[in-house]
Amino acid sequence: MTTFGPPLETALRSALEYLESLNSQPVAPAASLSELRTRLGKDLNEEPIADATVIEQLVQDTAGGIMRSAGGRFFAWAIGGSVPAALAADWLTSAWDQIATLYASGPAAAVAEEVAGGWLKDLLGIPQSASFALVTGCQMAHVTCLAAARHRLLHRLGWDSERDGLAGAPRIRILASNPHGTLGRAVRLLGFGEASMVSLPLDGTERTSPAVLQDHLRRAAAEPVILVLQAGDLNTGSFDDYEALLPIAREHPNVWVHIDGAFGLWAAASGSFRHLLRGAALADSWAADGHKWLNVPYDCGYAFVTDTRAHMAAMSQRSPYMVYASEARDEMDFTPEWSRRARGFATYAALRSLGRHGVEDLVDRCCRYARELVTGLAGLPGVEVLWHPIISQGMVRFIDPLASGDEAANDRFTDAVTADINSRGEAFFMGTTWRGKRAMRVSVLNWQTDADDVRRAIASVRQVLAERH
Ligand SMILES: *Cc1c(COP(=O)(O)O)cnc(C)c1O
Repeated sequence: MTTFGPPLETALRSALEYLESLNSQPVAPAASLSELRTRLGKDLNEEPIADATVIEQLVQDTAGGIMRSAGGRFFAWAIGGSVPAALAADWLTSAWDQIATLYASGPAAAVAEEVAGGWLKDLLGIPQSASFALVTGCQMAHVTCLAAARHRLLHRLGWDSERDGLAGAPRIRILASNPHGTLGRAVRLLGFGEASMVSLPLDGTERTSPAVLQDHLRRAAAEPVILVLQAGDLNTGSFDDYEALLPIAREHPNVWVHIDGAFGLWAAASGSFRHLLRGAALADSWAADGHKWLNVPYDCGYAFVTDTRAHMAAMSQRSPYMVYASEARDEMDFTPEWSRRARGFATYAALRSLGRHGVEDLVDRCCRYARELVTGLAGLPGVEVLWHPIISQGMVRFIDPLASGDEAANDRFTDAVTADINSRGEAFFMGTTWRGKRAMRVSVLNWQTDADDVRRAIASVRQVLAERH
């Protein structure tokens, strides 16, 4: 056997054992922090250890410390699994170990990424003329898109932010509808400062109303503005009304519209949900993830920018005309990283294995199961539905039968019931605070979730509640 054979075969065997046991094993990790530290925290060995032994022991020492979010009964945060073809392509990506920086350093990686980018724009309803970058996640997609925005907005005012930085530059105001925490970090990293960011007040449907936007744009006066709209909020899956808001934004003299569609942008791939994104194609940039709803392994986000010159001015380290002269697409003209893994292969494989109909079915299925899960929970005693899913996200709350309307007690009861559900291993949920109340979030983004998973999750919650009522 070759040098690579033993560790890779050990890894394959262990991976299959893991993946094929997802249905029968508890979702939540059972090992404690001290157990994991004891098992993994060995003294660094002086001498080499055989590769297969290293992998075998890694599997043993992490046992019970792996969250089974790859399976169908994981409903926390906004996390997908991995479709098999994407996982296999991801393994090959490591085996090939391409540096996906230039066409010259990994020709097939550059072309696969170029093709995948075109497919993504097609599925996500983004103009084919937009430039794009495959980055680590939505966090860096925000950074990439807002760096392009910074260039364009300040360039219009005669300021070269790439050359002169931001000290002394005109201030850019960031108006954000329902911002995710990654947006604040992008704003910090790019030097705008969080004090430049205004979180717009939402209406009863969790969206920014035209009147609120108008008011804040008026207050921004002549200042350049980055308007960030939401496509799929983490808790509610709500979408802004782009058809109403974009024309208002365009009346401002110097504005850039960015859409956070980490998972929600995938609604565009479904005929049943595409209407939620009506008007979104007229934005200036979009951020989305591959590792959530498309179910490719982690380390995969997408940035799209209509203004290719601004995108390249912010990111490229070469003269743009050299790219026009070249026939291939050099990834580093668009990405914030220099050396990077060839993450295009996993997206390419996921999209081919699913096809247009498979992606649509994945989106529809997740939304259907999210609805069925919340509806099923609503039928249990003491369950209050805070949010019925529009897409894949919903929220419920558990009412303490002994607390007679005391909301603080209901908050504690909701957290206790959620923890109890998770400890039984049949399903895994996370809590959140929404409109001042504790809630249990229901997020269905995994390709494996099926009717049986929904049934098992509801049964587990029913049992926990029965023991507490
Ligand atoms: C998950 C999420 C992000 C962050 O994405 P990462 O891929 O974790 O960087 C941003 N916005 C929304 C709405 C999200 O759900």
